[in-house]
Amino acid sequence: MSLRFYNTLTQQVDDFVPADGKTVRMYVCGPTVYNFAHIGNLRTFTFQDILRRWIRARGFETLHVMNITDVDDKIIRSAMQQNVTLEAVTRPFETAFLEDIASLRIQRPEKLVRATEHIPEMVSLIEGLAAKGMTYESDGSIYYRISKFPDYGKLSHNDFGGMIAGARVDVDEYDKENARDFVLWKHKKEGEPSWPTSIGDGRPGWHIECSAMAMKYLGETLDIHAGGIDLTFPHHENEIAQSEGVTGKPFARFWIHAEHLAVDGGKMSKSLGNFYTLRDLVGMGHTPEAVRYLLAAVPYRNKLNFTMDGLKAAALSIERLRNFELRLKTDRFAEGVNDDIAKRAADAFTQFEAAMDDDLNTANALGAVFEFVRETNTIMDAGGFKAGNVDAAMKLLARMDVVFDVLKPTLAEDSLADSAVDELVAARNAAKKTRNFALADSLRAELLDKGIVLEDTKEGTRWKRK
Ligand code: AMP
Ligand code: ZN
Repeated sequence: MSLRFYNTLTQQVDDFVPADGKTVRMYVCGPTVYNFAHIGNLRTFTFQDILRRWIRARGFETLHVMNITDVDDKIIRSAMQQNVTLEAVTRPFETAFLEDIASLRIQRPEKLVRATEHIPEMVSLIEGLAAKGMTYESDGSIYYRISKFPDYGKLSHNDFGGMIAGARVDVDEYDKENARDFVLWKHKKEGEPSWPTSIGDGRPGWHIECSAMAMKYLGETLDIHAGGIDLTFPHHENEIAQSEGVTGKPFARFWIHAEHLAVDGGKMSKSLGNFYTLRDLVGMGHTPEAVRYLLAAVPYRNKLNFTMDGLKAAALSIERLRNFELRLKTDRFAEGVNDDIAKRAADAFTQFEAAMDDDLNTANALGAVFEFVRETNTIMDAGGFKAGNVDAAMKLLARMDVVFDVLKPTLAEDSLADSAVDELVAARNAAKKTRNFALADSLRAELLDKGIVLEDTKEGTRWKRK
């Protein structure tokens, strides 16, 4: 079976291959950097990472662009309140965002681009729209005339037939029921940052950013445009109007949207005390990979209900996978192959891939792996697992980890490298051999202090991180 995704544009699951058969050109709406990303934002970015990784696992290359929104109403408000420049607000949060996605093992897109570094591209797009009569000016600002774009509403599947002609909006966040002529270029306001350009002194609206940057790096028709579900309307509808208004070509072949994350069944809010950043959760002692697992394990088109119990369960799931991997690496098995296990491993591998191909069904994909782990553990306990089965089981875990990336623990800054642990374990074994139990015990204590737990088995000593 082939790779397929739910496409918001067609409202169905469609087979996917990149237009050139080789490289997937994808654009994802990035963060607005005026605060730390919350775990809802991070769910959307984790989904984009899973999408990217599975596309690559399936043998395609990616040209993946993410924007950094470093100018908008909220950023300007924050800069004015603190009486500092835009960069003074945005750069620290941009750095924090990059740190957060690195801890969550979200791969860096091939290109990360800042809106403020693409003002000329936005201006020329607006000029292109103006040349086609799709814009008008009012009080020095420039608006998109949506009555000139008959396809308006095709992404959100809204019938805007009854829209009020000429109703304008010059803020970037507006209600989701009504279509409005939206602002492309905002006239300079006293005290606000602005750029002197051929279309006047001012600053861009939010929607034009993404059209300009996406087309600059990816061409007129992208393979995939992705983001959170809330961006479907108006943001992505407006991106289509801007891009297709100028090029006359489809802007993106696939539109893929991730459902929202809720906390304890409701909206996250600071006043309810259930608003979390990754830093909050790590500060409470949770690992970034447990957060990653939790965000990735629910298929992206399902609502995700974040709870602390769910986070603990995610950590336990990772623990089970790691323990299984440790057994495969350190247990001593009888020679030969157990044909039943060989078949189960091959079936689980096929099921994993089929589930991922099926619109990234991460829950079913993990289900196939866990069923194999459970059954195999039982067979191992009974002595039925053979040395010739190790490779296939490792191959299944490796395939899972290409996407989920949770097997390797995040090392604390003061923790020991694997090779250093191996050396200390060897030194302890040597001490035991010479019956120097005091030294052996102190080495064990030293390792425990660094978060390393030893287990003496009949096959020798194995260790894991706490
Ligand atoms: P922003 O930084 O506000 O521009 O948002 C960055 C991304 O997070 C966008 O793709 C949003 O759609 C997404 N997003 C915002 N809130 C949530 C949420 N509660 N759950 C999942 N994604 C969200
Ligand atoms: Zn965007």
